[in-house]
Order: sequence, then structure tokens, then C-alpha cells
Amino acid sequence: MRLTRKHIVPNPQRGSVLFSKILIANRGEVAVRIIRTCRRLGIASVVVYSEADAGSMAVEMADEAVAIGPSPAAQSYLVAEKIIAACKATGAQAVHPGFGFLSERADFARACADAGIVFIGPNPDAIDAMGDKIASKLRAVAAGVSCVPGFIGEIDGPEHAAKISAEIGYPVMLKASAGGGGKGIRIVHDPREIGENFAAVRAEAKGAFGDDRIFIEKFIVDPRHIEIQVLGDKHGHVVHLFERECSIQRRNQKVIEEAPSALLDEATRMAMGAQAVALAQAVNYDSAGTVEFVAGQDKSFYFLEMNTRLQVEHPVTELITGLDLVEQMIRVAAGEPLAFGQADLRINGWAIESRIYAEDPYRGFLPSIGRLVRYHAPESGERGDKIIRNDAGVREGDEISMYYDPMIAKLATWGPTRGEAIDGMAGALEDFHIEGPAHNLPFLSAVMDQARFRSGELSTAYIAEEFPQGFHGLAASAWQKDAMIAAACAMHRVQVRRNGHAVAGLRPARPRDEWVVVLNGEKRRVLLTQSEDGLQIELQDEDRTLVLDGIDWKPGRPVFRASLDGHAFAVEVAPAAEGFRMRQRAASARVLVLTPTSADLHERLPPRKAVDTSRLVVSPMPGLVVSIEVEPGQEVKAGETLCIVEAMKMQNIIRAERDGVIKTVNAKAGDSVSADEVLAEFA
Ligand code: ADP
Ligand code: ADP
Ligand code: MG
Repeated sequence: MRLTRKHIVPNPQRGSVLFSKILIANRGEVAVRIIRTCRRLGIASVVVYSEADAGSMAVEMADEAVAIGPSPAAQSYLVAEKIIAACKATGAQAVHPGFGFLSERADFARACADAGIVFIGPNPDAIDAMGDKIASKLRAVAAGVSCVPGFIGEIDGPEHAAKISAEIGYPVMLKASAGGGGKGIRIVHDPREIGENFAAVRAEAKGAFGDDRIFIEKFIVDPRHIEIQVLGDKHGHVVHLFERECSIQRRNQKVIEEAPSALLDEATRMAMGAQAVALAQAVNYDSAGTVEFVAGQDKSFYFLEMNTRLQVEHPVTELITGLDLVEQMIRVAAGEPLAFGQADLRINGWAIESRIYAEDPYRGFLPSIGRLVRYHAPESGERGDKIIRNDAGVREGDEISMYYDPMIAKLATWGPTRGEAIDGMAGALEDFHIEGPAHNLPFLSAVMDQARFRSGELSTAYIAEEFPQGFHGLAASAWQKDAMIAAACAMHRVQVRRNGHAVAGLRPARPRDEWVVVLNGEKRRVLLTQSEDGLQIELQDEDRTLVLDGIDWKPGRPVFRASLDGHAFAVEVAPAAEGFRMRQRAASARVLVLTPTSADLHERLPPRKAVDTSRLVVSPMPGLVVSIEVEPGQEVKAGETLCIVEAMKMQNIIRAERDGVIKTVNAKAGDSVSADEVLAEFA
């Protein structure tokens, strides 16, 4: 991982003694992230791992690894005694808890101290003071921080809730005081809904946090989520590292974050920063932490909560400040004073982060799990004047398991301006390819291509407003159509030539490169010629020629890369009858490449219903059928498992794309099947 060093603040504590060995009480992406910094600082790393993570990337990368039991977190990553025992067994002097798991447990931080182990995070009293939303709001008010209007105290029942809500004025938000991760939150618009919602939040809070205390605050309509990163040391210094905006959320969970925020002007930024620092100072905060606010479009802002840990979206702050937050946490935990003051810090450029989740955007963001049959991420590093950084804890072949967070990776990009950071992100997402579990790459691409996102007019209602009917991809732009047509021509040409050679043996017939390309039903006559500049694709009815060069593709590859009129692009491709299924960013298309004769034939044939390929269940790759889970006559729902095909020692679950009744089953366990072979048919 490379951070921008353009702006690095010098660290004078050269000879200072940091830890020689740190244990990471976490897994996945954040464990890998922390190991990287340990390596750079010459500190040995130890990870703990559950059964599900035995072969993980973090385990492979760490200097030492300690097994801590079964896969469910409650029996492994959340058991403080096991973590402390692992520190003692390996001689680790300090523990970094990452985020989630034990990161915000004051009792764990205290247990570490009692065992003589340094907790790389804030002191336990600060965690206690900020860990509870009601308690932290009281502290915030006392520190002069502006809070969301509401009732800062425990609500004892539905009647109390109704009374307070009427005083505050609807809409209101009911929140679990112990809540986190978007859980235990309900918006209530109408007094008649208060009882039911109160019961729901109470039940959820009890279930998720074992604590059913609830409070109420005003629901700020159409707000933006803006948070301030703070950093303190054990010598009373606290600085802020500016803001991050995390308004692109789904069900109160962050999806896309950026730094800085397009909303803030310098005066508002400094006012928010000063309040965040005041709150941190009020609790002797001595590590990295985040003070979250909701902000109105008019730049009014209100404190929400403080997260006393490293935040998932910390990379965007690192990219605009040049600091390594994990390094800073380690240094201050070791007792070093901060090596810089507020005046030394400056915002450099713009950074964006996309959370790549295992979920199916086309099916209501249904969570998904499974093996990463293919996983290709863009390489981290500098690209001209942009930076790409992918934080992941997985490799191709790894499993996204049901036990933990469904995040596959965090992709961050940096550019001198917001527009350039977005361009970088759009390009990097295009370069990301995942097969196996469903993933939200098409959705993230869609947001990057939306004019509203580019304009910076964000709000936490963005996704609900922009995709009111759910996500169904975006229509292809004229440029995207050209790119997909050109890609189809180039791929078809390779296949035709290859088949020609195979069939004609020694005397390959020179194929005529004159075709009709049908993209989502739109026809175009094309003529291909190879020139020195690349493959020329003449669109005969439009008097235009597309020039494709730098073609990077071989039959069977799932991504086609090339340059169209000098503009690099990538398209995801899957073979389909007579052509390809393709995805370019958020636009999907079915592209057929026909000879003029067969296109004529298609025309002259009496209009016939297109073959409904959605009726066919085909094998996405050559492999061995492990099992068929359905039988003829069986009714299935979208998302249900139909069969399992094993390829390259990996099992791939083939799921129903829609609701329906199975008409025929054409394969059985033990059969070997080719790509696109029909396994079953819907009625
Ligand atoms: P917020 O800052 O609003 O709490 P985050 O997305 O940063 O939102 O985190 C949500 C909660 O889920 C936090 O408690 C965080 O520690 C936890 N969490 C988020 N992502 C992961 C992950 N990949 N692994 C473990 N815990 C996670
Ligand atoms: P969590 O601990 O789950 O992160 P937060 O209090 O940070 O809970 O709220 C999560 C998200 O819910 C925020 O990022 C914001 O989008 C939204 N939210 C929370 N409180 C309010 C409010 N009073 N008005 C409007 N939106 C809110
Ligand atoms: Mg929050």
C-alpha cells in the first residue's frame, strides 16, 4: 500500500522505542492493513485466527499466527481471554484491535492493561465516556458541541416516547444508546407508529447489544453525514485531520466515503474540527477516533456519536493528509507525543473510497457468500497524477463466509481534485473483476457515473432517491455502446479466425469481416479492417469509424481490455448463444455478431419470439456437476440454489435468476459439462 508522501509531516522521533511485537486482534482486510504498517516500522506482527480463517491472507502475511477457536466470533475474536493468552504466548507487547470485535470494549482495554499489555487505542475511560450514545451526548453538550435537538436521556416506554416525540416534533429518530453499525435505529414520521417502532428498536437493541436503553432525537431531513478524524496523544495534544463525508449510505450503513467534503467551506470545517477537538480533549482522548455529525444542506451541523477506534473509511484521510493512522496509533500508544500540531496539517487533493460488498445489487442488495472463483483487483500504486489503493484481506480462491462482515475489499482513489478522484475510481472499478459471490461493483460504478454524484449534491437519502425502484443498472451511453460493439467485433474476429484455422487446417479461408452487430436489439452494419493504428470498425450506416487498439483478450477470459479512440476501457464478457453478454460499468448488454446473410435471414423470418434465455439454466463454466438440487415440476424462488458445479476444485452455486417452475433437468451429479451447457429449464 502506498500513501501519498507529497505531504508527509516529518517525524523527528527517530530513535524512539516502539514495540517490537504487536498482536492484531482482528481478521481480514484490517488485519492485513495493520500488518503492512508493522512491517514498515520493523515491528513483528502476530495475528489470531478462527477456524474459518486458518488459510487467510492475514495468517499468511503475519510473522506469527495463533489459532483461537471456532468460526463464530463469539467463540474466537470476541473472547478477550483468548486474545490476552495469545499475547502472553507470543510475547506481544501491544494489541491493535482494528475495528468491530473488541475495538470499543473498555473492559478489554482494561484487561490488557492489567495483563501488562498495551491496548493500541484510547484509554478505557474515554471508551466508556464515548461508547454510549446517551452518555456521550451529555459530555458533548458540556463541551459546547452542538447536538441534534432531542431528549438526552433514557426513554422508559412507548408513552414516554410519544410525549417526547411530540415535544421534539416529528419526524424523530429512535436510537439504541448502545447501537452501532446502523443497527437499532428507526425513523418515525407519525405518532401512530411510535409504539410499534419503540418495541422494534428495543428488541433489536437487546438482541444485538444486550442493552435495551433507547433515546430520541430529531430526524434531520435530507442531511449529510460528515465526520471529523481526531488524533490525540498521552501528553494532552489533540489535533483533527479534517473531515470525511459518508453520505452515500444504505440502511444507515456507509457505502461510499470521501475526503474532504464538497459541502464544507473553510470556516465550517474549522468550526467542526474545533468542536471535535474540544470533545476529544474533554475525555482525555489519546488515540485515533472519529466524531460523527449530521449536517444540513445549509451547513448547520449536529453531533451524532464518537467512534473510539480506527474507522473503516480511514484510508481517505490518509490519502489527503499523507499520514498513516495505524502508525500514529502505534506511536501514541507507545507514549510518543504527536510530532506535529494543527498548523502543520493541510488537505492535499481529494480521495474517495468504495466499499465492495458481497451483496447482489440487482436483487435488493441480498447478501451473498461463496468462494471468490475469480478475483482481480487493480494494482495499488500511482497512475500518472492519481493514486489507487485497494485494501483487501482476500485472494482469488478465498471464501467470503457467513460468519463475518460481508465486505470483500475497500477501493480508494486519490486525485488532485474531486473530479479526478472520481475518474480514478470509475476507472479502477472497471478494472476490478469478481466472480463467485454476488458483488456491488456495478452499483458503485453507477454512482460514479451519475451527474448528481459528480456535482457533489449528496445526502444520506441519495441511494433511496436515485434508485427508488431498486438498482437495475444504467442505460448504456453512446460511448459505452460503441465500446461494447467494438469489443464484440474484436472478440468475434478472434474466435472466427481461430475456428477457421481449426476447421480449414492448412488452408485457412480468409474470413470476411463484414458483420451485423445487434446490441440489445439495435442493429449496426460494420466492416472491420486491420490497420497500423489498430482495428478499424466502420459503422457503415453512420459514416463513422471506431479505432480499437491495445487489445488485451483471449478466448475464455472474462474481461476484455482495449483502447477505443485512445480511451482505455474494460468490459466484462460472458459467452452467450451467437454472441456475448457484457457489462461496461453499470450498463449491461446482450451483443450478437451475425454475418449479413444470417442477419438478413433473421429479418426475413416471420417475427418470432426471441428465445427466452432466462428459461435456461446454463453452466457458467466447464466443470463437474456436484449436485442438482431441483427436480422437474418443482417451484423455485429467485436466489434458490439449483445446482452446484465444481471447477478448478471450487464449488460454484448456480442459483435461480427468477421465480418459476422447473420443467426439465438435463444433467445429473457426476456429469461433466461445458460452459453454457443447459443444466435445467424453466417451464
Ligand atoms: P460507523 O462508523 O457508523 O459505526 P462503520 O462502517 O465504520 O460505521 O462501522 C460499522 C460497525 O461495524 C462498527 O462497529 C465497525 O467496527 C464494524 N465493522 C464495519 N466493517 C467491518 C469489517 N469489515 N470487519 C469488522 N467489523 C466491521
Ligand atoms: P451508528 O452507531 O449505527 O453508526 P449513528 O448515530 O452514527 O449510528 O447513525 C447512523 C446513520 O444514521 C448516520 O450516518 C446518519 O446517516 C443517520 N442518522 C443518525 N441520526 C440521525 C438524525 N438525527 N437525523 C438524520 N439522520 C440521522
Ligand atoms: Mg455512526
